[in-house]
Amino acid sequence: MDKKVVFISGASGSMGSQVLECVMRTHKFKGLILLRKKPANEKLAKKLAKKWGEELEIVFGDISNKEDCEYIASKADYVFHCAAIIPPTSDHHPKAAEKTNLFGTMQLVDAIKNSPRADQIKYVHIGTVAEYGNRDWRHPWGRVGDPLVPSVYDFYAITKLRAERYVLEADLPHWVVLRQSGVLHHNLFANNLEDGLMFHTCWNVPIEWATAHDSGVLLQHIAEYDSEGTMKEGFWNKIYNIGNGESCRVTGYDTMDTGFGLMGAHAEDFFKPHWCAARNFHCFWYYDSDLLDEYTHFREETWDDFWAQMKKLNWYFALGRIVPKSLISKLAIQRLFKDTNAPMYWINNGIEGRVNAFFGSREKWEAIPRDWKDYKLFRKNQIIDDDGNVVDYEYRRDIKNAKQFLLDHGYDESKPDSELDIEDMRQAAAFRGGKCISETMTKGDLYTKLEWECHDGHRFWSSPYTILKGGHWCPECCQPAPWNFDALAKKIPFFAQVWYDTHEKDEDKFYEKNCYEDILANDPKNKK
Ligand SMILES: [Zn+2]
Repeated sequence: MDKKVVFISGASGSMGSQVLECVMRTHKFKGLILLRKKPANEKLAKKLAKKWGEELEIVFGDISNKEDCEYIASKADYVFHCAAIIPPTSDHHPKAAEKTNLFGTMQLVDAIKNSPRADQIKYVHIGTVAEYGNRDWRHPWGRVGDPLVPSVYDFYAITKLRAERYVLEADLPHWVVLRQSGVLHHNLFANNLEDGLMFHTCWNVPIEWATAHDSGVLLQHIAEYDSEGTMKEGFWNKIYNIGNGESCRVTGYDTMDTGFGLMGAHAEDFFKPHWCAARNFHCFWYYDSDLLDEYTHFREETWDDFWAQMKKLNWYFALGRIVPKSLISKLAIQRLFKDTNAPMYWINNGIEGRVNAFFGSREKWEAIPRDWKDYKLFRKNQIIDDDGNVVDYEYRRDIKNAKQFLLDHGYDESKPDSELDIEDMRQAAAFRGGKCISETMTKGDLYTKLEWECHDGHRFWSSPYTILKGGHWCPECCQPAPWNFDALAKKIPFFAQVWYDTHEKDEDKFYEKNCYEDILANDPKNKK
């Protein structure tokens, strides 16, 4: 029998390259990749051609080019769409991010949809945790179906949210959306010490990381199990969160402390609390990431495994042990305050919109303790809740206690999907501040589109799956930009339940649709 063809987009990236390696090393598939024509990719193509020979077809082109996508659809049995321009690159080049992440996805999805082979193609779309927006200790656990309230200025999240919705509404015969988490990869340190993005991570944000290697295994197993007929029933046409599970459920503080800890010190020795954002980030612990592992058995690495590899692979950790920490802080970290993506740059240069979005206000930033002994860390049980009780970190982190911290999806979730009917749609719409306009639906049919109306009178057609299970809502007012969540949260209880965790009820900020361009004029990285 002929080998099935696996197409991987973004094969030069940190996720795509792992996926390619994992799929090819099985020798069960023919690989197909698309690389943009540039010197680094020509070099990569030579290396890959030598390594995989006839088993890998390398095409030079671009995902936003119709003909290239039609060629892929004419050959591939599995389409693994890993290509994306991600932060920090997307922050400095938003137009390029939109072209690849949104228009590229639309082109690829259209090509599959219009192909005579559409029924044979299984499309795997990579979404992102950034679509969910910010979390803290109040709702540290999240899951698919939670509201999508992407952080202000995060244009990357917007391109991914819109692309994902396009996939959900395209009626492809076989698809899955895998919302990727923060990815632990071997260049994590080197890459982050080039950009102010590092400081967007809040100290107290709950994060469940995914490793690049295991993300590769994940897609390898999807191709293997599906082609061998061993994939458990019910896998396709759903959305999942990717996360490495219990050991990788940490906080922003742990991440810095463990990484910099490889130099024999603590986060406190390198950072000050007020250098990092206080809100407007993303990530949480996944209540449902174990489900994806039950289908695909992709988890091979733990948190400790990853950092052990990092220590072995990167010489600079050993060097860091003998250099004074204050010097490392000055040369490697504080140097980044000049980067237009760094919160300290916004503070020092009067970029008030970002100061408001990431700190609440300049006064709130000024009130952040400068000394670690005064700063309250979730990780160290230093936060006191509104009732005067200590917020117990380990208690909250235990998945057995997670249910009480989950967000409401606005319909009776104890019902099996097959029992959901028009009354559930009406309830869900009301919780989103709107209405279900359609008067009937076939009970349990989550994929036939219904008509809905938001609080502002916008009407749209979307499947019950997209709305109830995907967490999407009005394509006009809830797929920023502009970012208008202070106003929306007043009308949409579904958003309000998480928005006010990190925003004041009387905040009244509005962020223009192109507000993220504010840093570009003085951005040397944008000139490149
Ligand atoms: Zn609307």
